[in-house]
Amino acid sequence: METIINSGTTTLYSLPQLSYGYNELEPHISEEQLRIHHDKHHQAYVNGANAILQKLEKARKENADLDIKSTLKELSFNIGGHLLHSLFWGNLAPANRAGGAPSGNLNDVIENEFGSFERFKKEFTQAAVSVEGSGWTALTFCRETNRPMIMQIEKHNVNVYPMFRILMVLDVFEHAYYIDYKNDRAKFVDAFWNIVNWDEVSKRF
Ligand code: MN
Repeated sequence: METIINSGTTTLYSLPQLSYGYNELEPHISEEQLRIHHDKHHQAYVNGANAILQKLEKARKENADLDIKSTLKELSFNIGGHLLHSLFWGNLAPANRAGGAPSGNLNDVIENEFGSFERFKKEFTQAAVSVEGSGWTALTFCRETNRPMIMQIEKHNVNVYPMFRILMVLDVFEHAYYIDYKNDRAKFVDAFWNIVNWDEVSKRF
């Protein structure tokens, strides 16, 4: 019989609520696409991470052996999935109050690094379209050099620059766009620019 561990002292991950309605990102992301993505896929990473945390807790209580390498690899994937999705929902907003280009300091550092916003947009788009298999593209900021950098993440956790602050992410797993765009990832990436919440991205910066 399965034992349910509940020590009452540990905190687990939970699915964040969206700050907009499921239909409010239409037509760029449909209600059906967003519901499945948020309620099923993101929830699965939350559940996956929590299950591993509970597995670790149980093994520690029983002083049992664990395959630490595979457990931590799986934990990294699930925590990465949870955190990146949480960032992603936050850097999206309905098109009537999103899209365009950033302003202020964020715009300045992007123009300084990439030459122009258009050049940044082109590089970020190319990074997103060219992720091998499933992954993400992120706009990050290195606090050592004070330079923004594009990060192309495979899965939820590969090719990450440790300690770089993540300002904006774009999910290019097929589960993010398949209902709306079938296999046309480039079309989804194009649509993404209409629903970027630059206020939120600037806040993170
Ligand atoms: Mn996703």
